[in-house]
Amino acid sequence: MSELRQRFYIENCPIRGEVVHLESVLQTILAQRDYPQAIQILLGEMLSATALLASTLKIKGRISLQIQAAGTFKWAMAECNHLGQLRASADYEEDPRFFQAENSSTVFNALVNPVLFINIEPEFGERYQGIIALEHDTLAGCLMQYYDLSAQIPTKIVLASTTERSGGLLIQLLPRNSEEEQQRVDEDLWPRLTMLTETLKAEELTDLEPTEILYRLYNEEDVRLPEAERLSFGCTCSKERCANALIQIGVEAVRETLEFQNPITMDCQFCSTRYTFTAEEAFGLFGKHLS
Ligand SMILES: [Zn+2]
Repeated sequence: MSELRQRFYIENCPIRGEVVHLESVLQTILAQRDYPQAIQILLGEMLSATALLASTLKIKGRISLQIQAAGTFKWAMAECNHLGQLRASADYEEDPRFFQAENSSTVFNALVNPVLFINIEPEFGERYQGIIALEHDTLAGCLMQYYDLSAQIPTKIVLASTTERSGGLLIQLLPRNSEEEQQRVDEDLWPRLTMLTETLKAEELTDLEPTEILYRLYNEEDVRLPEAERLSFGCTCSKERCANALIQIGVEAVRETLEFQNPITMDCQFCSTRYTFTAEEAFGLFGKHLS
C-alpha cells in the first residue's frame, strides 16, 4: 500500500486530484541524517507535497520545494522527478526549539523571515521559480496561498506526517472552457468537496491506503481511479555534476581548496555519497596539467 500516488477524477465533473502515501521512502530519507522529530515531520510533509505537485506538471524534469530562513534554521528541501523519485534534506544549527518541537507548525513559528521556493526544472527548456513568503503556519496553507495567487486554480491540499509515515491529498477544480460552461454544473460541488476534505484527520492521512481515504471522503461521488503510480527514493547526484560544480567555482578556488584538502571530497547532501577528485583530476577539468 505504501510509496503510492493515486490520481482520481470525478466522473462528469471538472475535478482532479491525487493522494500520496509514503512509508519506506520516508524512513530511508530520514535515516540519512540524525534529524530532530519536528524536522523529520516537516521533511515528511515536504516530500508528500512535492510528490503531489510533481503530478500536476506535464513535463519531464523535477520539482522541488525549498524553505529558507534567517537564523538557526538554514534550509529544508524536498524534490520529486517525473519518474516518482524523491529525495530530501535539511540543514540547521543546534537550536533547542527544533529539538523540543513535536510538530512542523512549531518549526514554522520559530522560523525567521521564512521563504518557500518552488523550483521547476524541465529536462529541456526554461527553469521556473516561484517564491512565497510564508504567511501560514502550515506547509499546506502556504501552498494553497501560492495556487490562489499564481495559478488561480481552486486547490485544496492537506498534508500530514509522523516520523514513520507521511501522506497528502490534493484536489483541484479545473477551469472549464466556454462550451463546458454551458453545461449544467453542480454549484455546490466544490464547497462540498473541500468541506469533506477538511474532515480528514491527520492519522487517517498517514495510516490509511489512498483508496480507503478516497472512499471515506467522497463515496457519494462517482470517483474514477487510474492505475496508481509507484514512488521511490532516488538521488540524482553524480561525479559529473560535482565536476560541473568545481568548474563553476573556477580554477583558482580549486587550487585554494587543494591546499587544505587533497584530494577534494564532496559529499552529496541528500544521500551522503562521497565523490573525490585528485589534484590531477581537478585540474584536468580545466584542461590543465599539474605543474
Ligand atoms: Zn546523492
